[in-house]
Amino acid sequence: MKKSLVVLLTIVILTTIVTGCSSKESDKLKIGVLIYKYDDTYISTVRQALEAESEKDPEVTLLMNDSQNDQSKQNDQIDILIEKGVDALVVNIVDIGAASAVIDKAKAADIPVVFFNREPDTEVLNTYEKARFVGTKPEEAGIIKREMMAEVWESGDYDRNGDGIMQYVMLKGDADNPEAIARTEYSVKTLNEKGIKTEEIGLQVANWDNEKANQAMESWLGKYEDKIEFVIANNDGMASGAISALQNAGYNKGDGGKYIPVFGVDATDEAKSLIEKGVMTGTVKQDGEGMAKAVYALVVNAAKGKDFLDGTDYEYDETGISVRIPYQPYK
Ligand code: CA
Repeated sequence: MKKSLVVLLTIVILTTIVTGCSSKESDKLKIGVLIYKYDDTYISTVRQALEAESEKDPEVTLLMNDSQNDQSKQNDQIDILIEKGVDALVVNIVDIGAASAVIDKAKAADIPVVFFNREPDTEVLNTYEKARFVGTKPEEAGIIKREMMAEVWESGDYDRNGDGIMQYVMLKGDADNPEAIARTEYSVKTLNEKGIKTEEIGLQVANWDNEKANQAMESWLGKYEDKIEFVIANNDGMASGAISALQNAGYNKGDGGKYIPVFGVDATDEAKSLIEKGVMTGTVKQDGEGMAKAVYALVVNAAKGKDFLDGTDYEYDETGISVRIPYQPYK
């Protein structure tokens, strides 16, 4: 009994202290942050960098939410954040098709919203003057990857059937995400423009997922093992799934034996380590920290009622509402 009384008193005292502090808390800007899912390596780097930015900033509190890859959950989280009186929203949307619904909520509450990474249609963003987007230039990842692939193709002996054509398999992130489409399209189209002939012998939408990519690769190896000359993945998670399947079939063991070049995007720690071990070929670095800094600067400006770009070096692209963070090669 005595023990529980002490616990109770402690709780009362702590609550008083916390409540005491929260009068100061209420002067802070509250920014609701919605992450499509915490369980995504690249997005985690952006999330942590956002948190690091806010820790340096006594004027701002971030209210972080894991939408667990569920758009209806994300919509509920937005409603709750708006009820809590947030001054602005940062949205890494689950389903880009839901962007206009999200914008309607922000508009009704008259608060700015900065989308990042997963890009809503510009037309949809343009329906609200307080909506912006921070992302990459999706085709740039493809173009940088093209340069790396061309270099590898031209320097090595990977034309297994000697027909002068690069036979490849493609692991695509998802069917309608513009980032996935651009990464897929540009990595190959620009290779062709460089005079390298290509033939796609397999394309699988593997949802950015390691396990799904692993299964696809296993099935391709079963069907046309001798034909596959290059493996192209829209992200490193899928590239690493493909590498496990290749290793099971005796390839890419880092021992100087049979090797099929594999390319990803993101430069995750796992991919960097695979590249160092000589079992993966190259990836493209998304600057997660750079993206977080841009998102943070824009949303805090807007939450203060300033222009999104006030006091920053960022510029909009041709849409007039999107800021692009550059990619870099990693091999
Ligand atoms: Ca060939």
